[in-house]
Amino acid sequence: MLNHSDFEGVMGLEVHAHLLTNSKIFCGCSTKFGAEPNSHTCPTCMGLPGALPVLNKKVVDFAIKLGLALHCKINKRSVFARKNYYYPDLPKGYQISQYEKPICEHGYLDIYSNDNKKRIRILRIHMEEDAGKLVHENAIETGSYSMVDYNRSSIPLLEIVSEPDIGTPEEAVTYLKALRDVLVYLEICDGNMEEGSFRCDANVSVKKKDTTELGTRTELKNLNSFRFIERSLAYEINRQIDLIMSGGQVVQETRFFNVEEGVTYSMRGKEEAHDYRYFPEPDLLPLVVDDHWIDEMRKGLPELPSEKLERFVTEHCLPRYDAEILVSDRELAWYFEEAIRFFPEPKTVSNWIMTELLRELKDGNVSPKDAVLSPSLLAELLSLIKVGTISIKIGKEIFPELYKSGISPKLLVEQKGLLQISDETVIIETIDAIIDRFPKEVFDYRHGKEKLFGFFVGQAMKEMKGKANPKLLNELLMRRLKG
Ligand code: ADP
Ligand code: MG
Ligand code: ZN
Repeated sequence: MLNHSDFEGVMGLEVHAHLLTNSKIFCGCSTKFGAEPNSHTCPTCMGLPGALPVLNKKVVDFAIKLGLALHCKINKRSVFARKNYYYPDLPKGYQISQYEKPICEHGYLDIYSNDNKKRIRILRIHMEEDAGKLVHENAIETGSYSMVDYNRSSIPLLEIVSEPDIGTPEEAVTYLKALRDVLVYLEICDGNMEEGSFRCDANVSVKKKDTTELGTRTELKNLNSFRFIERSLAYEINRQIDLIMSGGQVVQETRFFNVEEGVTYSMRGKEEAHDYRYFPEPDLLPLVVDDHWIDEMRKGLPELPSEKLERFVTEHCLPRYDAEILVSDRELAWYFEEAIRFFPEPKTVSNWIMTELLRELKDGNVSPKDAVLSPSLLAELLSLIKVGTISIKIGKEIFPELYKSGISPKLLVEQKGLLQISDETVIIETIDAIIDRFPKEVFDYRHGKEKLFGFFVGQAMKEMKGKANPKLLNELLMRRLKG
């Protein structure tokens, strides 16, 4: 008898990333999001007869950069093809894409969960144009009808296709986040899932754990949030396992995920699947890139997330956990490195960023670059704590105010009279008052009940409104109690 746990999921992802070019892939129209419908159009991206495509060099630059970042082979000769199908958002009746000869092939992206590394192989990366967008109206007065907006038509895309190396829904999300980080670090895609700049189709199958043979796959289309991706993959894997265990067979088909119901539905089966009749695009020459072009792109590569992570671990001696959080947002990583320029204690800075700062940033949905509490101001706060001007406790208390106002920590501390008290005579005065007030506790302490020490520290701190220099207070109190 087979169990659910005898099976495992197998996933391969196809990601579409909108490129951050100013103009479209085959014409000069703007790519800006959110413009008046059909205002960013011309005969070429409207598919009018006689208009010819001209390849945007920037798109090739970006494809090469991504290929290099993902350790791909860059094909010196690649070919654009026509993918033929009819749909109202596709005015030419075909999409220009790369098919048999894509620009990049056979790379990989390493992903980490905890300290385990897993390599996800990249099958191919190719360039293509996006389709337009249908907008469906359904009003009582007008009845239902659809409109088409060609602003998105011919916006450049890179499609990144992974090998079926992904084993769990969590791994799929980890892979997607890592891939998105790479795109964002390279500044070739903004990674915005809500605006559709980063979209994912997932191919899912299941197999018995003891075999290497892959099962029949289904394809989930246009998943546009990490949470839905994880949920829909988990659902689909379970559905397939249930089906097989009850004697059924998975059929190759496209399914879509219904967010409200949390289930996937069949959209179209393999029989109805398109036969795209690909053929080489006659209006574009094969694309030839030379070593010089590739070298130029390689020189322009920034430090990638995985490299930054390694550096944070080795150079700044951060735990991997800290480094992962900081690196997951390029601006947060920037914030961290700025702050340690002014206050070179990486782990302390990381602690404050991961707790106090991140909490505030998340609450207000603010990005680190825009925080009014700049890295140098955070460093100033940490220096005040380090030299003993204020205690950690006070530092945490004033953090929200510093975060909101952007005022200098030093100034705020002075204004509020929060300076830590390191004046021995003042501290001794307080200690003596406490000793007078609790004679019984003092007696007990002196007769061996040493854990009462904390009680005295607490009382003295309370008396001094948390401002006593804790180290000094401890020393003096110890001396006084020993009598
Ligand atoms: P197609 O062009 O029909 O989509 P591809 O060979 O390009 O087919 O594969 C598309 C995606 O499907 C790739 O990401 C690949 O890893 C994935 N894939 C292929 N076979 C399977 C399988 N049995 N289970 C899960 N994913 C698969
Ligand atoms: Mg596919
Ligand atoms: Zn155009």
